[in-house]
Amino acid sequence: MEDLAVEPSSSHVDAMDIASMIPWLVGGLFLAKWAAQLWLERLNSAHVSAQAGSVPEAFRATVDEATYRKSVEYTLVRSRLRQIEMTYDSVVLPAVLVSGVLPWGLTAFARWLGPSVWASAVFLFVAGVALSLPDLPFDWYDQFRLEERFGFNTTTQKLWWVDRLKGMLLAAALGYPLLVLVLKLAEWAGPWWWLWAWGALLGFQCLLMVLAPVLILPLFNKFTPLAQSSLRERLLDLAQRTGFRARSIRVMDGSKRSRHSNAFFTGFGAFRQIVLFDTLIEQLAEPELEAVLAHEIGHYKKKHLIKTLAASALGSLAALYLLSVLAQEAWLYRAFGFHATSLVAALLLFSLLSGLFTFWFSPLGHWWSRRHEYEADAFASQVMSEPHSLIRALRKLNQKNLSNLTPHPFYSGFYYSHPTLLEREQALGGTSVTGRHTHQHAARV
Ligand SMILES: [Zn+2]
Repeated sequence: MEDLAVEPSSSHVDAMDIASMIPWLVGGLFLAKWAAQLWLERLNSAHVSAQAGSVPEAFRATVDEATYRKSVEYTLVRSRLRQIEMTYDSVVLPAVLVSGVLPWGLTAFARWLGPSVWASAVFLFVAGVALSLPDLPFDWYDQFRLEERFGFNTTTQKLWWVDRLKGMLLAAALGYPLLVLVLKLAEWAGPWWWLWAWGALLGFQCLLMVLAPVLILPLFNKFTPLAQSSLRERLLDLAQRTGFRARSIRVMDGSKRSRHSNAFFTGFGAFRQIVLFDTLIEQLAEPELEAVLAHEIGHYKKKHLIKTLAASALGSLAALYLLSVLAQEAWLYRAFGFHATSLVAALLLFSLLSGLFTFWFSPLGHWWSRRHEYEADAFASQVMSEPHSLIRALRKLNQKNLSNLTPHPFYSGFYYSHPTLLEREQALGGTSVTGRHTHQHAARV
């Protein structure tokens, strides 16, 4: 690398100028994101509180006073925790960035393990784990205080810690080889390394989708085929009617960790499968479960999984290209105290800073996801020849999960991957009037 200190040139001066401005710019971006997050939380909480007095008109026939009050309280308490966590994150991450601990760590690891790609990947992995630690107390509090208080928690302390440990080992087993591969590709492939890295990432993602249901999810939960019953007959009949070869409808022991209920769809091609939480089966009647399954089959039939994967592939292509450009800029390293250009440092900085930009684009992704939900709902209503079973299922799910029935439209528009209960009912031709549902711990049907 050119020794900039010995031979000052005009580009050197520019690099210095930019480097000294970057921390301020990044600080401003952190501040802007934090302010937007806080504003959205407060807006939403105020909106919910303003209607907390009695059950809103639109829900009077379907939600009782006690459940409604509890859902309001749950929403407000969750929002308070989120506000504290956002504020905390907005202090911790910038502090890490300006403290110089990252360049120090990189140098220390290089001295300890040598400059190889294998050693660099260890550094990245350790940094990733270390940076996830500050949020651990919040996760713990969420599960054992907040969720506990509202009767959702069924996780034991031991299970919670074992989950964390398993998650870390899994990240090491999958993430470490991927990091090594990407860094090796950068060494081998020259200026087009980012395209190769993208190919590797894509292959890895596809592999993961195939492996997840077979190898990864069973590490955390028990999956059993849905037992012989009238429900099973009904669901298989639905699968046949919709031309969905139901290789497996499996039941997951979600109750092991939480009373929240859900259903989801994983894998593709021959590996696809539909998973119903045991909590869901407990909460819904047979026609409602059939409607939920029809909704999941709708996601499959409308190719939502493939479309989402394609969109995220385009996103990661753009991100890797941007990374390859930024990784050549001296000011990036100088700004955060790194002594030399290194892809490892660039990768680390990029992953820590990208959220400052992606945050503002996330509503676009959520809007797209909500469109998919509407399509799956319409499909379900069509194959069921009536919308009422699905509407009843959605109402129950929203109640059982204490979803926020009346979020502020800005808030749900920004954060929600699913339309609100009333939006879905309206689209299905149920009731009218406005209202909404929650994005965290919501019914993810
Ligand atoms: Zn869905």
